[in-house]
Amino acid sequence: MGYFTLTRLALKWALSKPVTTRYPFEPRQPVPGSRGELAFTKESCVYCNICAKKCPTGALVVNRAGKRWAIDRLLCIQCGCCVESCPKKSLSLTPSHGTIAITKDREWF
Ligand code: SF4
Ligand code: SF4
Repeated sequence: MGYFTLTRLALKWALSKPVTTRYPFEPRQPVPGSRGELAFTKESCVYCNICAKKCPTGALVVNRAGKRWAIDRLLCIQCGCCVESCPKKSLSLTPSHGTIAITKDREWF
């Protein structure tokens, strides 16, 4: 490959739009049907604790007396066990990956 061809190719790629997303400078687009963030609907939850018992990683904590529900996002592996076991359909997995968890603090609802 000649010097002129290489220079032309280098200029073409340098000036063309990147084929990948410039994450984290651009938000990541969710893939439809993928398992992302676990969403909780407080209004329909009856604090039965079934989801916490089914969770294989111990990511969930339910305080029945205080009517509070919590998740440790760093422990959740998006397996969907809690979603399938919830009798009130209070849980769902959204395609969005949400905010990145950077602390070990549980998120309380
Ligand atoms: S299984 Fe459903 S209703 Fe029961 S505590 Fe979990 S989220 Fe609430
Ligand atoms: S999706 Fe799986 S790992 Fe995440 S909270 Fe539900 S049961 Fe636990």
